[in-house]
Amino acid sequence: MNKSTLLLLICLSLITALPKSRKLNQNTKRKLDESPIDISGTWEPLRIKFEYVTDADVETKEFLDKIFSISGTFLSKYLLIRRSSDKIQLPQDAPTQFQEFFEMGNELLSVEYDADLVFFVTTMDDSNDSTLAFCAPIIFDDKTQRPIFGAIGWNMAYSEVSTLTNAGFESQLATAVHEIIHGLGFVEDLFNKFYDSVTGEVYPDGGMVQEDDVVKIITPRVVAFARKHFGCEDITGVPMEQEGGDGTAGSHWERTLFYNEMMTGNDMVSDFVLTDFTFQLLQDTGYYRLAEYSPDILTWGEGQGCSFYDQMCESEFPEFCSDEGSTGCAITHNGIGVCSSDDLSNSCKYYQIDPNLDCRNANSIGYADNGATFQDFGYQSMCVIGGFAATNGTPQDFSCYEYSCDGKFTIKVNGQSIDCSSGGVKTLEGMSGSITCPENFEQFCKNKDECPNQCNKRGFCMKGLCTCYGNYYGQGCELENCTKIRKGTECVDSCPSGYYLNDNINYCIGCPGNCASCSSYNACTECKDGYELRGGFCDYLEESSDSSHIKILILVLIALMY
Ligand SMILES: [Zn+2]
Repeated sequence: MNKSTLLLLICLSLITALPKSRKLNQNTKRKLDESPIDISGTWEPLRIKFEYVTDADVETKEFLDKIFSISGTFLSKYLLIRRSSDKIQLPQDAPTQFQEFFEMGNELLSVEYDADLVFFVTTMDDSNDSTLAFCAPIIFDDKTQRPIFGAIGWNMAYSEVSTLTNAGFESQLATAVHEIIHGLGFVEDLFNKFYDSVTGEVYPDGGMVQEDDVVKIITPRVVAFARKHFGCEDITGVPMEQEGGDGTAGSHWERTLFYNEMMTGNDMVSDFVLTDFTFQLLQDTGYYRLAEYSPDILTWGEGQGCSFYDQMCESEFPEFCSDEGSTGCAITHNGIGVCSSDDLSNSCKYYQIDPNLDCRNANSIGYADNGATFQDFGYQSMCVIGGFAATNGTPQDFSCYEYSCDGKFTIKVNGQSIDCSSGGVKTLEGMSGSITCPENFEQFCKNKDECPNQCNKRGFCMKGLCTCYGNYYGQGCELENCTKIRKGTECVDSCPSGYYLNDNINYCIGCPGNCASCSSYNACTECKDGYELRGGFCDYLEESSDSSHIKILILVLIALMY
């Protein structure tokens, strides 16, 4: 690491733009451009470390330790990197002052880290600053150009550590994961430096284009996945946010197309989803490959076709609402919201969940009178149209009730179960009011991504699976002291066949993502249907029309032979 490329990029706050965002320094940009990419290293599980460089009180320290341990465990479980060396160290010419992040003591220059990526974490407590957190990759590996040091700033003024519910904690955790993903390279300044990890070549047309004010990602996996998700073959570039100003614009998915994807810009009340858009972008960087993973599904825009993609709210899609100020269930069914636009939504309106009417948050006080309308709030609760009350009470227009997806779709109200599997309007004996069973419950249940008790402040939830920090395990990280090895939600003696120990986090990891059989976590031998084996990993890349024509020709020839 004697000739590391040194950059300072400011990434972005989740809550609002960092006012002093910086562009890549020309000198270091040239350095990155000129340094050759060396792809000789083997793919190994990412090891992340966090170094706290500012003093904080015990409660703050404990909180940060927890969210970063969980985030680090989660990302280490899924991301593989090309390891150039076992240890990393700051270059001796590293600046001691990382812009306004923090003043770095010289002692850090001599530290060797048993890690592949180290974040320096600094805290502030400033309620006048609307920035919740920010993050920057700082120093890049000589060989692979991958970020190896980063800096994270965290504003404790928005963390209210002592009163966090499970849902509140999960939201803070989502911020931490969001920031770290910026630190992994999800920043506009790097898009054109991304390269194909199989060939080591930068993409022929770069990683992005700028059309009018909009940055569009044009890397192959992202584009292929966007075509699949939206159901639109015409997609050639995927738009990033163009609103929100410096630090937000350019480095986040466009809110109007990606809604609650974790890498959209500002904070909002919702259940954030970490989807294949972000995972494919991470693979398109050239720096990362994936172990077996099961991403959250983005419901927003799924299969809605090119008109959704091109026109967004100018056409009528259920994702959007038109009657400003009206109340309704958010499209994700997570809460009750008001039809309005926000500063990232291109004037499009959707039901924005009222923080007090977030069905998933136990702190929600209910639409009006919680006790009288038998509502429930928590991870198992969803928004439905209508509501119930005692015979002399007044039901709500929209309510949060417990639901379950076990075979049939059931809504539970005050101990009574309503079978909503076949839709329709339902009443309950001895109560006034009614509910309208949600439409498309199959899709809702298929995409269900909730974990029991939001992983009990001990883990990160993706597609219903908690990744727990420390020695915790179980469906909701509720079990303690797994002294053996964790596999999924279990504590096992050893990793079974087809699984491999990641001893840095004590989890079994599987074959590479979307692989059907492998000889190691970094060597797939056969991919699942629809994926192509490239460099020992499986890519979802669309067939070129040429090869599909050849396939059709072969099928016709076979048919003629019989
Ligand atoms: Zn951000």
